Amino acid sequence: MSLWIYYYHRVSIEGEVDISLSLFDRQMRFLSENANVCSLDDVCEFIEKGRVPLKPTVAITFDDGFYETYSFAEPIISKYGLTATVFISTSRILDGGKRITLRDYWSGKASLKDFVKPSPVSLKYRDTTSPYQSGFMTWEEARYIDKASVRVESHGHLHLKLPSYPPRIAGTYKGFAGKSSSRRWWLRHIVHRLREGVPVFFLESSLKVRSFKWKHPLLNFCELTPDCLEKVEWEKLVIPETEEEQRKRILGELETSKRLIEENLGKKVIHLAWPWGEYSELSVELAKAAGFKACYTTEKRLISCADDVFHIPRLGARRSWIKFLKRFYACASGYGYNALKVLKIGV
Ligand SMILES: [Zn+2]
Repeated sequence: MSLWIYYYHRVSIEGEVDISLSLFDRQMRFLSENANVCSLDDVCEFIEKGRVPLKPTVAITFDDGFYETYSFAEPIISKYGLTATVFISTSRILDGGKRITLRDYWSGKASLKDFVKPSPVSLKYRDTTSPYQSGFMTWEEARYIDKASVRVESHGHLHLKLPSYPPRIAGTYKGFAGKSSSRRWWLRHIVHRLREGVPVFFLESSLKVRSFKWKHPLLNFCELTPDCLEKVEWEKLVIPETEEEQRKRILGELETSKRLIEENLGKKVIHLAWPWGEYSELSVELAKAAGFKACYTTEKRLISCADDVFHIPRLGARRSWIKFLKRFYACASGYGYNALKVLKIGV
């Protein structure tokens, strides 16, 4: 008696980024033979009726709207007669036509070398908002997969992190060696002329955060030593968003994303997956106001009868075949995912 949702990001030829083509194919074949693969509409119906299916039942989702969801994932999903959903961040979707897919490879019209490769930057930093844009699908490709086996729904518009109020220092910029993702986001979006010593602040998803503006140009702080930085009263140097401004910004982003998909694909959009799984109860309230009927998190657990459709958990797909099987059987068993986690059986 179990129901759960997988989330994937990228499928790459050799597994350079996320899951390899062959492992993804193997996982889809396995699911087609061992589970009931349903749509997100079905998941919502199960939850609303308070009835979790007897046979292991899963939904397959992709986040972000990468080109590979169109070129690699959709042909494989269709090959096994499955259905899936991709949550796209609409600001990243490109103009332009359809590019090659696995179908062209299968029919001998293209070789694997012809596919767009993830750039070295995105490989190194996994930074999906770098100027490298061909990693995302075009609107025409989105229209195509939505009519085939992969429904297109919303992942917000910007997929952006903003500094959260009150400002909290995560560290100082020490060049590209910094490993924390907060530093990377800061680096990409907030500071355009970086110098060593620039204070780096904690960031959160634009769809969750109450953010702020600086009263003074940030570069004024560059020469401060770490000792001085600790003494700065950051709250006095910023203007926080009012609740009204925060609501307007988040609602505006949610509505933009929904409208762009609806206009470009000529369909109703009702499902929303939070970028990085970050949201607040205000985000959920605004998602409802924007017209979404279900929201998806990255809370790693099975769906239970007690869940509601605005807080639906999802499990990451595993990049190892053994771990994928372990997680599948842990979920499919009466013990459930969490019970096996407590027993320290890696799932
Ligand atoms: Zn995302």
